[in-house]
Amino acid sequence: WVRSVGKFVEDKKNGNYITGVMADISEQKMDEIRKNDFIGMVSHELKTPLTSLSAIIQISQIKLKNSSDEFLASAMAKASAQVKRMSAMINGFLNISRLESGKLSIEKTSFDIRELIAETIEEFEITAPGHRITLGDCGSLMVSADREKIHSVISNLLSNAVKYSPAASEINVTCSVQGNEVILGVKDSGIGINALDSAKIFERYFRVDSNQTQNISGFGIGLYLSAEVVKYHGGRIWLESEPGRGSVFYFSLPIN
Ligand code: ADP
Repeated sequence: WVRSVGKFVEDKKNGNYITGVMADISEQKMDEIRKNDFIGMVSHELKTPLTSLSAIIQISQIKLKNSSDEFLASAMAKASAQVKRMSAMINGFLNISRLESGKLSIEKTSFDIRELIAETIEEFEITAPGHRITLGDCGSLMVSADREKIHSVISNLLSNAVKYSPAASEINVTCSVQGNEVILGVKDSGIGINALDSAKIFERYFRVDSNQTQNISGFGIGLYLSAEVVKYHGGRIWLESEPGRGSVFYFSLPIN
């Protein structure tokens, strides 16, 4: 990107002009690169204290195993869940930074997708105890994918289902095989999304701007990242939603 083009440059031979717009685009690009580097650096720095905190909590939980102090045990479980939540956010930012600089890598292993869904739901039973999260008929099924990144996709869809639906409502996760793909669905009975916003929902930093969402925190990167991860795997991601009634987010992964 050429940064120095600030004036109109005349190409006399062809009668064309190179305009200042070019400089504007490169400035914008440079800003994005700087912002991206900054996000990557901050996220990386935050990881170190968080890893120590996580280790301290784990050791405390081991020491508390035979203790009858239920209050402390429950406090540690909650602290651990919050540290995991924070790690997921930081990993999200690290992945955004990697994605923008073309360094996001997918490390595939073979694993049972049903097991991963069940594990992820279990994590939410601590962080979102008010909601009832159910797992529909879903037999064990081996897929070849990046387990950690698919975990972050399921976790993000569940986290959104919790955030954008009333406390104590039900969230249902489904999985089915159709042709040569496995399709996962996360259904909530929350605020829903209108067609106009649905069209932009997988864009970077996009958040629905409404009375219902203004007090709910978020950065608008979860669905963007999820979509990119799914695409990297050769899958698809989409949604069905009705304002006021709820949403179902689906994504597919190819089966080898
Ligand atoms: P975040 O939730 O952190 O803002 P996401 O990228 O995960 O970022 O989601 C983007 C936006 O899409 C959210 O801000 C919200 O407006 C909307 N959204 C996502 N999931 C749901 C859902 N299940 N129900 C209603 N709105 C949703």
